[in-house]
Amino acid sequence: MAEGILLIISGPSGVGKGTVCRRLLEIRKELEVSVSSTTRPPRPGEIEGREYIFTDRDSFEAMINKGAFLEWAVVHGYYYGTRRMVVEEALSHGEDLILEIDVQGAAQVRMKMPEAVSVFLAPPSIKILEKRIDGRGTEDAQRIKDRLVTARREMKVYHRYDYVVVNNTVEKAASLINSIIDVEKCKVSRGARPPDTGGDS
Ligand code: 5GP
Repeated sequence: MAEGILLIISGPSGVGKGTVCRRLLEIRKELEVSVSSTTRPPRPGEIEGREYIFTDRDSFEAMINKGAFLEWAVVHGYYYGTRRMVVEEALSHGEDLILEIDVQGAAQVRMKMPEAVSVFLAPPSIKILEKRIDGRGTEDAQRIKDRLVTARREMKVYHRYDYVVVNNTVEKAASLINSIIDVEKCKVSRGARPPDTGGDS
């Protein structure tokens, strides 16, 4: 069985990664998404095990020390991490898995798993990104400022990714990422073969 594709969707804070991923999952139902662990407290409406596995600092740090994370990062003062087991199991079962993670985590995954496909989701402009961060309404003024500073820094690393997708509309961005998955599945290096050769040369 061909291994599944590990698809990293990353980009600056506030660009709309979550919304685009949710739409992508509707378009391509067989995709799996990795549920991260975090020490951030749940926001209203978030459910344990659906958006995140919510955990405390001590447990998170114990998992770091055990090597349980494929990647982890501190984002806006909280830990976030992708469990190694989740990724290994999905890929070995031939499932395509999405990691919706920040740019620090994306760098770690690219280094450890060069076969991963990385997509940098970019805003149509910095101004629009700033408006989106400001308009979320879930954070206080200092947190918004921190997010803006981080977002500007995060924009600078796009050139390390395989693909840049501009989030002009959620529909267009999700559809482009869906096409990227289609294209990746046509790669000979990923095991694509003509139907009746059985791989013989
Ligand atoms: P939020 O708290 O708004 O859900 O997420 C904050 C940031 O953390 C977002 O940029 C999100 O993509 C990122 N994030 C979520 N899960 C992970 C993870 O497992 N690892 C890393 N490195 N970043 C994550």
